[in-house]
Amino acid sequence: MELKLYNTLARRKEVFLPMDGGRVLIYTCGPTVYADAHIGNLRSYVFPDVLKKTLRRLGYQVRHVINITDVGHLTSDADTGEDKLEQAARSAGRTAWDIAEEHIGHYLEDLRRLRIELPDVMPRATDHIAEQIEMIRVLEKKGYTYRTDDGVYFDTSRFPGYGALARIKVEGLQEGARVEMGGKRHKTDFALWKFSPQDSRRQMEWESPWGMGFPGWHVECSAMSMKYLGPSFDIHTGGTDHIPVHHSNEIAQSEAVTGKPFVRYWLHGEFLVLGEEQRMGKSEGNLITLDELVERGFEPMAYRYLVLNSHYRKYLTFTWQALQSADTALMGLRRLIRDALPEGTVPKPIAGDPPQGSLEASLLEAVCDDLNTPKALGLFWTALRDGALAAGKKATLAVFADEILALGLFDFSRLEQSEDVPPEIRHLAEKRWAARQERNFAESDRLREALTAGGYSVRDGKDGYELVRLDQGRG
Ligand code: AMP
Ligand code: ZN
Repeated sequence: MELKLYNTLARRKEVFLPMDGGRVLIYTCGPTVYADAHIGNLRSYVFPDVLKKTLRRLGYQVRHVINITDVGHLTSDADTGEDKLEQAARSAGRTAWDIAEEHIGHYLEDLRRLRIELPDVMPRATDHIAEQIEMIRVLEKKGYTYRTDDGVYFDTSRFPGYGALARIKVEGLQEGARVEMGGKRHKTDFALWKFSPQDSRRQMEWESPWGMGFPGWHVECSAMSMKYLGPSFDIHTGGTDHIPVHHSNEIAQSEAVTGKPFVRYWLHGEFLVLGEEQRMGKSEGNLITLDELVERGFEPMAYRYLVLNSHYRKYLTFTWQALQSADTALMGLRRLIRDALPEGTVPKPIAGDPPQGSLEASLLEAVCDDLNTPKALGLFWTALRDGALAAGKKATLAVFADEILALGLFDFSRLEQSEDVPPEIRHLAEKRWAARQERNFAESDRLREALTAGGYSVRDGKDGYELVRLDQGRG
């Protein structure tokens, strides 16, 4: 089966052909560990995970790298502003190393909870200073760099085709206002190495041929990706915000060093944005974390479902109501799957290619069409609801679907928990649901209080409700 991926370089879907037969090399720009990842950031790691699982299903071996940015990412993309790690450390009165350690730990925990597979390598920028210095030396030798008061810069005018990924018209950009130039010669030039301030010491700084300082953020990703995947590799992923600056710079400096094409397929995930009402609360901006979801009683898989239910190249508007609906849907799938299991036994996964014309083949075809997970979920729902389809077939399909979607579809613990509800509580809840359907909100509120007194909270979805024991959060 053909895998088609939307390649930002070409601005269209292309058939994916790996460079080296059976092996696929992928690099994903990882977190800047000055704060916990927010749910928007986390969206950008879900689609590469589905991609990996799809590639494996197609018989490829995958080598995946996600880096950790623990130095060099400034508060402004224009090479001004402060290092995010140093700033966070200063305002918390802690060391930058300590801050990084804490957020790396949280990031790993977020990946685990979202069933995002760990990469094969997770290199830290601060462990690869020598590689970055070496890269800058080569660029210097080849005449791509110049020095200013505050650092060593890449001269983008020396790299023909600079900005092709972003379709940046460099001349236009140079006329336009509002880019802080400092000592830069061209607006698109960027720092490879920044000097430490003369009057103070940074927490993270290193000796280099150009003086004490630290590497720029872009050079990190080039140095680490090429160290672990080679000068040319198959796929590079990140959020769409990386197209105009970070990834354009990665391409320029990497290709300037090696003289070879850097990456064949560039995949970019669109942003998660917050719905109106969410902008208000304490989570101003876009700083909802997975922890906050769990604190509000949501299972991380509900968030994964929400993400998979929209295409990775479309904006996803987050609201708590949408998350609740995703959760209800996930529970609905689990219920249908459990009903389909012959005596509770989970069938074995099918080995090799799914037979032509099978439901499994249609599902795989959907994800092979530029990771169309909403379509795959739609097909899956239709099959599970199909009264004419044998239970065994549904169960086999569910195993296949969960290998790619990784939604914990066979985790029935919450279903069982809600079934242990005592009959009098169930009765109150049914009465409340009926009152709510009749829009008798006074009665439904009274019944909610009675349920709370009985030790249960109730969450409403579009098509039904769920009871949760108050002493048992879900997480
Ligand atoms: P950072 O930790 O800031 O370096 O970003 C980590 C990843 O999250 C990058 O791939 C960004 O492009 C991505 N990203 C940042 N904000 C969002 C958002 N609101 N929605 C989706 N991805 C995002
Ligand atoms: Zn990067």
